[in-house]
Amino acid sequence: MRDIFEIRAQDAAGRIGELRIPRAGVTVETPTLLPVVNPNLVTIDPERFPAFGVEMLITNAYIIKRDDDLRDRARAEGLHDFLGFDGAIMTDSGSFQLAEYGEIDTTTEEILAFQHAIGSDVGTPVDLPTPPDADRDRAESELATTQERLTVAETVDTGDMLVSAPVQGSTYPDLRERAAHHAYGTDLDIFPVGAVVPLMNQYRYDDTIDVLAAAKRGLGADAPVHLFGAGHPMMFALAVAMGADLFDSAAYAIYARDDRYLTVSGTEHLDDMAYFPCSCPICTSHDPDEVREMADDERTRVLAEHNLHVSMAEIRRVKAAIHEGSLLELVERRARGHPRMVDGYRALLEYADQLEASDPASKDVFLSLSAESARRPEVRRHHERLARLQPTGEVLLTEGGTHGGYDESWRVVPPFGPFPSALSQTYPFTAETPERTDRAGYEAAAVGVASLATANPDVSFTLAHEKWPRSALDRVPARVATVDLAARGEDTSSVDSNGAGPEE
Ligand SMILES: [Zn+2]
Repeated sequence: MRDIFEIRAQDAAGRIGELRIPRAGVTVETPTLLPVVNPNLVTIDPERFPAFGVEMLITNAYIIKRDDDLRDRARAEGLHDFLGFDGAIMTDSGSFQLAEYGEIDTTTEEILAFQHAIGSDVGTPVDLPTPPDADRDRAESELATTQERLTVAETVDTGDMLVSAPVQGSTYPDLRERAAHHAYGTDLDIFPVGAVVPLMNQYRYDDTIDVLAAAKRGLGADAPVHLFGAGHPMMFALAVAMGADLFDSAAYAIYARDDRYLTVSGTEHLDDMAYFPCSCPICTSHDPDEVREMADDERTRVLAEHNLHVSMAEIRRVKAAIHEGSLLELVERRARGHPRMVDGYRALLEYADQLEASDPASKDVFLSLSAESARRPEVRRHHERLARLQPTGEVLLTEGGTHGGYDESWRVVPPFGPFPSALSQTYPFTAETPERTDRAGYEAAAVGVASLATANPDVSFTLAHEKWPRSALDRVPARVATVDLAARGEDTSSVDSNGAGPEE
């Protein structure tokens, strides 16, 4: 067990955790966002970060090491005084520069020793960030090199500095899983999932989720996971729901330099804005005209402050959603900001079994908001449970009231399907669902009926439904009799057969 990370609350695969950073003497609550500080180009003074709710930042040890002046000052003052930040400081190793420029002049031993010498709290070895869609041979051979460097990193004396163990493997899920399994087997501490920036730059949120899901399968639940380079607030809820704990943002500053304004549903350009739809200190004290008229440096700083405020606010909102068990509802709302985010949400739901392992059995209330809700882990879990339930005799499954003449009467609610009426007041059957149910909801309910009927071949079932579409009724086994309540005025005394199975 890794004793630096403790999970306090969970929802889907998301969690609120406490990450102890021994060298900094602080405990950081996750999910959290680490603003990237470029020591050559400070946009917001790190001294001011606590006012934004920032507990941890990341800066680049390779950039500091390469510059004589920065190196001497960082060595003499220590990184915390040098940057003016009392919280936890993570350092990157130059792997990003390696990916961008093809070569760097340092080694894992050297850069870890340097990170330790300047007082970093979390160091990083020089891994090889293999880009998405690389050849399989390249991804495998670079992963082998990264794994050798993690083994080297274990041997470097880094005192109480934590060391991260990056997980690579390009867009090959089996390589990502294998890489994660290997990294988790080292004695290193934090697990960045690397080289996903190109995916996010191309709005490939579904592929990002595939990569993250694969890495999570190779890591233990007690592994703190950093989605390296993911800094847009639009996708925090989605990535947290798949199990990411740490994010870093260069975006708050890079976007600001390009006059771009971040929101939780996308990015706006300052030139196009008539209003600031935000209640941060910047947006309540300026309007877009005033900001447009500012000098370049001032405008960049002001936009960066808004971008950081909106990002940190979204992290708090994600934590609140985990706390109250509404993370998937938040993901659903965020997904509506962009069609590619819908793809990301749908990809997340492909991993309902993986999410289900950590998803709490009981939450506040299930809000069925779209066709995607029918694919949530709660629905899947209920369908699995239906295969283990054993009603007896003649059983009515009904969307309407109870009726005489049956041994048992169960309620039916899309997208869950049937459940014993005694469970009506328990999660998730207290769900709020639309009156105008979508096809996916009916079809999921029919899968629930099928699960129950298949598990109980000797029980006679009648399904009393309200105008289910043919696509749903086709999923109901032939031996289940059906009656359309809407057509029969709730009279279930005489029913249609859904088809003549051989046992009838
Ligand atoms: Zn704002």
